[in-house]
Amino acid sequence: MLPPSRTNTVDFDAAKLQRIGFADARSLPVKSTSLAELRQQLGLQLQTSLDIERILGLFFREVQRLVPLDALSFQHSAHDLRLELGERAPHSAAYRLSHEGEYLGELTFRRRQRFDEEELAQLESLLASLLFPLRNALLYRSALLSALRDPLTDTGNRIAMDQVLQREVDVARRNLQPLSLLMLDIDHFKQINDNHGHAFGDEVLKAVAQTLKGQLRNVDMVFRYGGEEFLIILSSTSREAAALVGERLRFAVLELQCLNAGTPIEVSISLGCATLLPGESSESLLRRADSALYVAKREGRNRLNMAG
Ligand code: GH3
Ligand code: MG
Ligand code: MG
Repeated sequence: MLPPSRTNTVDFDAAKLQRIGFADARSLPVKSTSLAELRQQLGLQLQTSLDIERILGLFFREVQRLVPLDALSFQHSAHDLRLELGERAPHSAAYRLSHEGEYLGELTFRRRQRFDEEELAQLESLLASLLFPLRNALLYRSALLSALRDPLTDTGNRIAMDQVLQREVDVARRNLQPLSLLMLDIDHFKQINDNHGHAFGDEVLKAVAQTLKGQLRNVDMVFRYGGEEFLIILSSTSREAAALVGERLRFAVLELQCLNAGTPIEVSISLGCATLLPGESSESLLRRADSALYVAKREGRNRLNMAG
């Protein structure tokens, strides 16, 4: 049997709360604070952070001074966010949060015991304190993420690449796991631009990036390294496995159907592959992948070259 659940809308544009659901009168828990006092405190506390996890953590902790809870979950699919605090329980009250027409996510309170009407009214009142901090945190998160992405190809940019590479090198070293890089560059891309125009060149860049991401398990590990160069970080991947991935990518790009006014344009990539050596720095690993790519170009392009 499905647990009883409620779906509610907290729409502060209309300054009213809509609730659809059940009423179950039961005795109230001991209150350690009043609603008004808690609302005021939450208003101040939640403003102290722009981190969604921290804001929800504070909210979850503080709300329990008035209404005991077992869990709180939050999700916002457009932001690719899903957070769970506490332990799942059968009774739930779910709210769709929005502010001035802007969707801010779904928040669910869970508990082993049913919520009574007064508790639900209190939770809804307390949710009002969450809206502004949550909206600001979502905006901040978008700004942070867009500062780390290349807008043309929707891959990570150099700033993101530097951060992730350093982190992955540290993790690989600590866990004694292999780590491989693929550095790749579109062949004769200048000719594509020269023959078909820069706008078409941009389309080819986007299509290549899309193809790379489509072939990889972890799309967050593709970075635009330069104009028509990409770096792929393959965590927990040995030299042999990275070679297979590299060849798969090379074939996938060759099979790309790039049409300019109905005429198919051939696109190929060259790749250099390097696998982290014991004690090697991220800079050295990157340099070896780049040198391997250079050799692939020199040896005729449309090929993968493994660093020695
Ligand atoms: P190779 O096979 O040796 O890599 O030859 P190539 O022509 O691809 O290399 P080259 O470095 O000579 O040219 C790269 C070109 O990529 C030149 C530059 O104008 C173009 N490019 C860089 N960024 C962009 C971009 O964002 N959009 C477009 N359309 N072209 C770009
Ligand atoms: Mg090139
Ligand atoms: Mg290049």
